[in-house]
Amino acid sequence: MSLLGSHISSAGGLRRAIGRAEALGCEAMQIFTRNPLQWRGKNLTDAELDAFRRALLGSSITRVISHASYLINMAAEDSVRRMSVDAAICEIERCHQLGIDSVVIHPGSSKGGSRRDALSRLVESLDEILDRTRDTTVSVLLETMAGQGGTLGSSVDEIASVLDRQGWDRRLGICADLCHLFGAGLDIRTEGGYSRLVSSLAKHVGLERIGCWHMSDNKGTLGSSADRHAHIGEGEIGAVPFGMLVSDERFADIPAILETPKDGIGDEGNLALLRKLRGRP
Ligand SMILES: [Zn+2]
Ligand SMILES: [Zn+2]
Repeated sequence: MSLLGSHISSAGGLRRAIGRAEALGCEAMQIFTRNPLQWRGKNLTDAELDAFRRALLGSSITRVISHASYLINMAAEDSVRRMSVDAAICEIERCHQLGIDSVVIHPGSSKGGSRRDALSRLVESLDEILDRTRDTTVSVLLETMAGQGGTLGSSVDEIASVLDRQGWDRRLGICADLCHLFGAGLDIRTEGGYSRLVSSLAKHVGLERIGCWHMSDNKGTLGSSADRHAHIGEGEIGAVPFGMLVSDERFADIPAILETPKDGIGDEGNLALLRKLRGRP
């Protein structure tokens, strides 16, 4: 019985995302708090922060997730790592001010270099990020990736090894992306496949570390490393694991965020399908 939601546009001001999500009947939402393709975000004024916080409190949205900038590579070798650490810290502080409790970040990439070294740099970056934002309660959720190129975090095991090496900070968790896990080779198409995924999450990271699910089907085939988002049930995965997930009592308060295309049936159609699969309006 996850909290159903979607990635919502914050065009025209962050506060406007809340109205858009409510209009769709979302219980949770994910937003970019700034342009995700730029290093620096515009500072928010006190009035903007206040307006967002008040609108959120007065809304039916239970949980908000921020998705960090796509430029961040915590495993980079050079000045990019420094910029990434600083950008992640900025994002966490911004979430803290906005009353957002979690930020999803891509683990990073080895960019063709040694994967082992890249993973060490990622752990080092996480240490610094968590340490320098100790006075906040914002969680950092590492997203599972489809495994293109030298992308880190393409399996539950690899994310678990990062959490383990970091020392299991209370604020560190995982965003399990079903589209990416399938692209990376995890067969979740059947009830058994879904159960194996949840068992593996329970064994390696602990279910309480799952802070968010990303929901989209994949036009790419199993293990192709493809990350081609499709409407639920219209890709190679099919609707089965999505239905299992949204009706799974173990994830009652965890946001299940759609990242499906905005065309065709759009958010409305995908949310309607998930509600039907969940068996309650
Ligand atoms: Zn992402
Ligand atoms: Zn994706």
